[in-house]
Amino acid sequence: MNRVYNFYAGPAVLPQEVMKKAQSEFIDWHGSGMSVMEMSHRSKDFDSIIKGAESKLRKIMNIPDNYKVLFLQGGARTQFGMIPLNILPDDKSADYLITGNWAKHAYKEVLKIGKKANIVCSSEDSSFNHIPDRDSWELDPNAAYIHYTSNNTVYGTQFRELPEFENKNVVCDMSSDILSRPVDISKFGIIYAGAQKNAGPSGVTIVIIREDLLNIEATKNLPTMSIYKDIAAKDSMLNTPPCFSIYMVGLVLAWVESIGGLEEMEKRNKKKASLIYNAIDNSNGFFKGFSNKKDRSLMNVTFKLPNEELDSSFIKEAEKRGLIGIKGYRTLGGIRASIYNAHPIEGIHKLVELMEEFKNKN
Ligand code: PMP
Repeated sequence: MNRVYNFYAGPAVLPQEVMKKAQSEFIDWHGSGMSVMEMSHRSKDFDSIIKGAESKLRKIMNIPDNYKVLFLQGGARTQFGMIPLNILPDDKSADYLITGNWAKHAYKEVLKIGKKANIVCSSEDSSFNHIPDRDSWELDPNAAYIHYTSNNTVYGTQFRELPEFENKNVVCDMSSDILSRPVDISKFGIIYAGAQKNAGPSGVTIVIIREDLLNIEATKNLPTMSIYKDIAAKDSMLNTPPCFSIYMVGLVLAWVESIGGLEEMEKRNKKKASLIYNAIDNSNGFFKGFSNKKDRSLMNVTFKLPNEELDSSFIKEAEKRGLIGIKGYRTLGGIRASIYNAHPIEGIHKLVELMEEFKNKN
């Protein structure tokens, strides 16, 4: 078996232990004589799988009892519309922090469905290379909610400290840093995340929603599958859920628990990211980090070489060494090393080794 070091931004690397466990029970899950892929979602066996995933998530993230956990389909992007449809009444506006292209898509979706949104701040003028300072934020005191993206996957910036807002409904897209550090759930109204970076394979979106928000019913006559309240009432089984993806999320959560939970995860993530950022900072300007230092992401490390030819030959050399998926996002170029929870430290060492050799050679 020849596993590569996978730096893709998502779908992304999964823990080897998880893959092996899934492989070992693929054809016959726990003596059921079936794969999870073949199981009725109404069976007792699957009930234990989905309930097990939810209870592990509740334990690891310390989710209070007045929050519902939903496992949905449609990716994080579907939530860009579902959130305003469910909790933004037509006579109100919602506050959006525009810190990256996903944050911007989330904002634009509100306008697209005919609702109102206010731009609190934006770093678009500087190509999203930082999180705007809090003093510059223009919050609407009457906003129905505040939306932000905790980690900007494309540009490699992150709210290293999560902002706090008094008495506000805070909605956060945690697609690319969920489970990477401890978070105080009680400070949020809704947290959502596509699973395919830190939580499992693609196909399932985790939504953690405070129960009172289920009752806002901001838009009449929504399609049934867009109504959080209805999905929550059926514990994510209003229709057939993404069974296999939910099962895989459960295995990933068991792995997170086994390594010591989110405190340990955060420690590992800080260590891994600092190795690459140190290599950038100690390169005498050969490698240029894209993000402002204070906002550097622990999940997606973005940087450039002195010119585009060197970017491409660096990527080629990386591939030769089995370091895959480091090409920057198409709008940004350069290098992006996505180093989610499951990315092993050995891959980071290999990348740093390459950075040093490449700098010396060029
Ligand atoms: N938000 C963020 C922060 C993302 O990184 C992504 C995907 N890369 C999305 C939303 C969109 O997620 P999905 O593909 O699950 O719709």
